[in-house]
Amino acid sequence: TVRVRFAPSPTGHLHIGSVRTALFNYLFARRHGGQFILRIEDTDLNRNVEGAELQFLDGFQWLGITWDEGPDVGGPHAPYRCTDRLALYRKYLDQLMQAGQAYPCFCTDEELAAEREQAEQEGRVPRYSGKCRHLSESECKARIDASEPYSIRFAVPAMQEIHIEDVIRGQVSFQTDDIGDFVIVKSNGIPTYNFQVVVDDAAMDITHVIRGEEHLSNTPRQVLLYQALGFDLPAFAHLPQVLDQSRKKLSKRDPNVLPIQQYRALGFVPQAMINFLALLGWSPAGEEELFAMDELIAQFDLARVSKSGAVFDVDKLSWMANQYFKSLPLETATSLVQQQVDNANWQQPAGVPDRWLGEVVSLYQEQMVCASDFLRLAPDFFKAEISYEADAKELLATAEARVVVEAYLAAAKKDEAWTADASKARFKEIGKAQGVKGKGLFMPVRAAVTGQLHGRDLQMTIALLPRQWVISRLETALT
Ligand code: GLU
Repeated sequence: TVRVRFAPSPTGHLHIGSVRTALFNYLFARRHGGQFILRIEDTDLNRNVEGAELQFLDGFQWLGITWDEGPDVGGPHAPYRCTDRLALYRKYLDQLMQAGQAYPCFCTDEELAAEREQAEQEGRVPRYSGKCRHLSESECKARIDASEPYSIRFAVPAMQEIHIEDVIRGQVSFQTDDIGDFVIVKSNGIPTYNFQVVVDDAAMDITHVIRGEEHLSNTPRQVLLYQALGFDLPAFAHLPQVLDQSRKKLSKRDPNVLPIQQYRALGFVPQAMINFLALLGWSPAGEEELFAMDELIAQFDLARVSKSGAVFDVDKLSWMANQYFKSLPLETATSLVQQQVDNANWQQPAGVPDRWLGEVVSLYQEQMVCASDFLRLAPDFFKAEISYEADAKELLATAEARVVVEAYLAAAKKDEAWTADASKARFKEIGKAQGVKGKGLFMPVRAAVTGQLHGRDLQMTIALLPRQWVISRLETALT
């Protein structure tokens, strides 16, 4: 059976590229009735960020991505946090040491830096010289006994060609002579990623390693370790890079691309994010672009993942998020908006009925990309006073407009009924009495009540605003 894993390092926010990797693994597992494993790769102690793991769990829960084994749900290969698996790495390290395939290295950081510098000056690709590879056993023992710090390096075999059959990229080849003996256990006794990942993927019976292209250069090192440890190779699939709009590698600091939690905070529909991320590098057979999770699962195919970079198109995300937001049941949209309103500390006008917020949301839902758009679109429903845009002011300065506004004000003062139909009736009457219709009738009142010449349904807008607010806005407009 298919077994895949997502193996984030808890070094900070859950970034879009990582979520895409997780999603592709998830879709692949579900598509093939396999298992999806979450493993927390926390062996780089200095980079671990407190709370990052919880944020991951939270983010995936929001997106509806679930796993079958992981630190929170357990499983037959527990533990799923690498720092809890040190004994296992130790066991395989001993095996490599005994076979002479790994050796202690006493080179200091300064020595290694000098080596690198030298190589750079001579225009060579820097790689470890292998200086400690040939130390005698007795010398090693003496230096270890003297508490000299050391790391462990893998002895890379000379003059071999490594072929990787990548599911997405086809055959990729590397020369071992281009790879220096690399560190597999650091001087603090903790394994490096390349060693840890091989031991864990083998121990957890991972069948397909699906990860970002940035790891392709690690893969030959990992293949060497698989071979040295006598493990079967998994299939590899390296996903194309995520690019920004100018087709450069997406930076984690790109202001157009947020960590996943922020999309949640802004009130995006999670299914929209899933749909959008699924299309970052993968495309289904037809023209259709909107897919629910189960449809993605039914169609997902690594053979349709592209080799070339996938552009994170911000406009496309907005388009897609709007498709999802506008088709939410009003109740769901309203509760997402409610959170935004609460966070912004906005107060509903006093005395409005329970359904009021939903009715205001229904004015705007069609055009919203996410719930927080509401804060931009509807502030004037939450405060009595408004500001007037220049063109609205200009219109309100004309005699024709003032006549209509005055008439509407008089009618509003008389009329207790505060509904859209009542407003419509007021307009009708004023229209008849003044001999105006259409824009000449509605625009002045819109300008006076909303401060703008454009906006949503006017009768509904008026009906949803408290009567006193409308009256005072009409009065303000006339001063
Ligand atoms: N911990 C690695 C990362 O965060 C995982 C890479 C892999 O999937 O092998 O990039």
